Amino acid sequence: MAPTVSFSTESRAARARRQGDRAYTALFEKVLWPTWDVAVRRRETRRHLLELERSQWLDPEVRERAELRSLIDLLTYAGREVPYYRELFRAYRFEPRGVRSSADLAALPLLTRDIIRERYDDLVDPNHRGTNLKKGTSGSTGNPLKFEYSPASEAWRQAIKIRGYGWAGYRPGKKTFYYWAAVSSAPPSLKVRLDRALRRETFVDSMRQDEYSRREALEALRRTRPEIIVCYTQSCAQFARWIVDRGLRDWDDIPVICGAEAVLLGDRAMLERAFGPNIFETYGSRETMLIAAECEAHAGMHLSEENLCVEIVKDGRAAAPGEAGDVVVTDLHNYGMPMIRYLNGDVARRAGSTPCPCGRSLARLEQVDGRRADTLTDREGNTVPGIVFHVLFSDARRELVRQFQAVQNVRGEVTLKVVRGRDFAQDDFDRVAGRFSYYLRGLPFRIEFHDAIEPHHRSGKLQTIIVERNPPAAACAPAAAAR
Ligand SMILES: [Zn+2]
Repeated sequence: MAPTVSFSTESRAARARRQGDRAYTALFEKVLWPTWDVAVRRRETRRHLLELERSQWLDPEVRERAELRSLIDLLTYAGREVPYYRELFRAYRFEPRGVRSSADLAALPLLTRDIIRERYDDLVDPNHRGTNLKKGTSGSTGNPLKFEYSPASEAWRQAIKIRGYGWAGYRPGKKTFYYWAAVSSAPPSLKVRLDRALRRETFVDSMRQDEYSRREALEALRRTRPEIIVCYTQSCAQFARWIVDRGLRDWDDIPVICGAEAVLLGDRAMLERAFGPNIFETYGSRETMLIAAECEAHAGMHLSEENLCVEIVKDGRAAAPGEAGDVVVTDLHNYGMPMIRYLNGDVARRAGSTPCPCGRSLARLEQVDGRRADTLTDREGNTVPGIVFHVLFSDARRELVRQFQAVQNVRGEVTLKVVRGRDFAQDDFDRVAGRFSYYLRGLPFRIEFHDAIEPHHRSGKLQTIIVERNPPAAACAPAAAAR
């Protein structure tokens, strides 16, 4: 068993700290946050959050009526203002005002990454051009994508995140320890640093897994005494194993919110030993933010239905509960670049219709398949999270790379295969590549440019991160790559 410390008689200092933490959280929620949010960031996050806290308990029929109104409003706007949808709705004779339920969306084709790339300018709402926020994602299949969303959508995204994290005990202003990937090479701006300080957020780069970096992370954890941890699943599970193996735990239970990757049983067991029994899985994507989150009943993940209309599609029809299907998302509040029936590349299973023991009426996902990047190993035997490749390519604002795949062979050498993107520029690419070397810590690393990336010769799958653990048989050696 993991060494755990029980605080049967709480020390005076610990009690004072806990009371201080509670007072700060209240001050933050009631005074600092509204002032900061409205005066500085001009967001309506708080107003949405209050609505969301209420709507999660509503009778499903009442909530679904409101969601249907949001959907019809979005479709109507997109069909009127956004060139791509104007054309699409005309071609499909699709009338938004005639929509009677979200199932009517099935009359429209899926929005793929290829369509977004090809029709990007026609997908951006002309009224929002220039005011949208711009982001990128590496995509789970290694083909990065850029996209935009409106500031109004950002407020919804933040509110949805705060509510979903709230099921794990998170509140804005609570001391939060982010064991997270540092996605940007630039140091955080003054505004971001001030925001983090007010929110009492500590960020530690989870992509660095060597002994020194783990010691630093441990020190930050002990120094800041967080009330909650938000992490990348695999790197935190590995950090947890390191803590357990060395008997370093000297804290009481801390709830852990896991993101970016699925939480497997082994991860959950290890995280529980290091941080206690309150482990929560979340599912999100950079395109739409939090899609689903686990509640305190730990019985699947509730969908963010007020902000996203999520379909699970199998062979063109709605998948049955428990049946694996493609995740198709319609973002109800992103008018800046409407994403209607966006095929996000993930595969998930819907839970049955039995109500969740927690009492919330939001539908649930049973699980999201895949969502695991393989783990590389450096010269000293430390782990290097494979997800670091996704993270670094997500950072690119422009389409530097069309597709990528990283392979570590049995000798430890890493080859990054890249298909150049539309906005490829050698200088920019070299800057990103330089950051790979930082995380790979001296591993032999080379880059190959290809016209296309074939499924891996051993797995046969189009995996993004591949770690070869046994010598490949001579018979299935890879074909020579085109440089
Ligand atoms: Zn629940």
